[in-house]
Amino acid sequence: MSKQPPSIAHHIGGRPYAGGSQRSHPVYNPARGEVAGEVRLADAADVAAAVAAAQAAFPAWAETPPIRRARVMFKFLELLNRHKDELARIITAEHGKVFSDAQGEVSRGIDIVEFACGVPQLLKGDYTDQVSTGIDNWTLRQPLGVVAGVTPFNFPAMVPMWMFPIAIATGNTFVLKPSPIDPGASLLVAELFAQAGLPDGVFNVVQGDKAAVDALIEHPDVRALSFVGSTPIAHQIYQAGARHGKRVQALGGAKNHMVVMPDADLDQAVDALVGAAYGSAGERCMAISVALLVGDVGDRLIPRLVERTRALQVRDGLHADAEMGPIVSRAALDRITGYIESGVAEGAQLLVDGRGFDAARAGAGCERGFWIGGTLFDHVQPTMRIYREEIFGPVLSCLRVADFAAALDLVNAHEFGNGVSCYTRDGHIAREFSRRVQVGMVGINVPIPVPMAWHGFGGWKASLFGDLHAYGEEGVRFYTKQKSVMQRWPESTGRGAEFAMPTAR
Ligand code: NAD
Repeated sequence: MSKQPPSIAHHIGGRPYAGGSQRSHPVYNPARGEVAGEVRLADAADVAAAVAAAQAAFPAWAETPPIRRARVMFKFLELLNRHKDELARIITAEHGKVFSDAQGEVSRGIDIVEFACGVPQLLKGDYTDQVSTGIDNWTLRQPLGVVAGVTPFNFPAMVPMWMFPIAIATGNTFVLKPSPIDPGASLLVAELFAQAGLPDGVFNVVQGDKAAVDALIEHPDVRALSFVGSTPIAHQIYQAGARHGKRVQALGGAKNHMVVMPDADLDQAVDALVGAAYGSAGERCMAISVALLVGDVGDRLIPRLVERTRALQVRDGLHADAEMGPIVSRAALDRITGYIESGVAEGAQLLVDGRGFDAARAGAGCERGFWIGGTLFDHVQPTMRIYREEIFGPVLSCLRVADFAAALDLVNAHEFGNGVSCYTRDGHIAREFSRRVQVGMVGINVPIPVPMAWHGFGGWKASLFGDLHAYGEEGVRFYTKQKSVMQRWPESTGRGAEFAMPTAR
């Protein structure tokens, strides 16, 4: 008799919650191509239960002094550090990324929790003494209420941690709707929060798909929504959220370029390209998917890149030597393969073809997994689909460009503006590049310039809809509203009513 895969459910009001919806979605181990679980997909009633739990928890949590909220966050931080590898193992099992990369993802999430532990300082507010005679004015920031996060499959721990530590530390209550592709990490996080003493209902998880997201957007008690995912959905959610009067930040897709100048350190540039294009199988919103090779650098760089792409250790992510794991799903693998076909059909030069990768090389039991090798194109043209569209897989497109100005023009003309990098030894070029490039996150001799917790993360153009970036002080602003208080303790002025606009006296 075949064993039923375990059911993965919601976490509402401080405890596991099965929910009423009968819909579910298989959760795969992508290295093996096997179903490892079955995740429930919430309906509007399940979402309403989560929002009700969060709404009930809000008044007391908002009234809790920030330093006491921070103490819960410190306990959560301690538990996260203790369970870091357990979380990373869940990520590798459901997403496929290699274990060291999953550990890195958890560490970058932990950075944000550490930042959120400083919430008393972040909420301090401003005060002006004596704005007029006997009158003081100050501003403070107060939580919004119930806020929601909708997150993508590619960082099942880190991207939610861009959101909830800051939202919760600033006094909101939170409903997380993770990707149904890899829902496991969210439940361990919920459990750790409960162990840390977070009051029931402050952090809730609803598993689901579009139906759950629609229910969150439409729910009148959800005050704000943070979304991270692909651009078409981000745009749609930004519009729908605005229609329902919500505060929305919606981070979208990417097509990140690396400009390699002729004077770049070639060893560093090759290492950077291989790691940033094929790490996490290219399934990172900050992955480098385009190399702009300036002047003659392409002739020197391409042979090395070919060699390194062919030598990639594509393995089950739990294997100690693995550099790249499988693709997350069969559908994603088919999409990536389709893009490779289109690149060939449009006349790009396919130097390394990852199709037909022998899954047996990935490890025992991987024969039916979602495997592809690193893929490298040269002489890609800006009109081709593999240049214009986000592939979100281990496919690197190289373009030859005449000079720095041509490279900058290409980056700036692209629809996306998430991350970008420039490899050079020339300080003037580096400075010009970082000042003139129309992209939100810039690396100079750094391939994946994901900002640290206190700087905030966000792209430009079609990579972000909304005004405020994720985490950092922008995150604090997103999850709080400003209130200005003007106060006088008179001594009666005896002046009676005043009808002119008050001005400083
Ligand atoms: P996705 O857009 O398919 O899904 C993201 C989330 O939206 C998931 O929770 C999903 O269940 C939900 N969703 C899917 N379709 C929906 C619909 N029609 N209506 C409402 N909700 C819907 O993205 P993905 O495939 O999970 O993640 C990969 C994408 O995310 C890539 O485009 C990548 O660039 C992007 N991404 C961007 C960033 C960033 O910071 N800009 C970070 C990580 C990932």
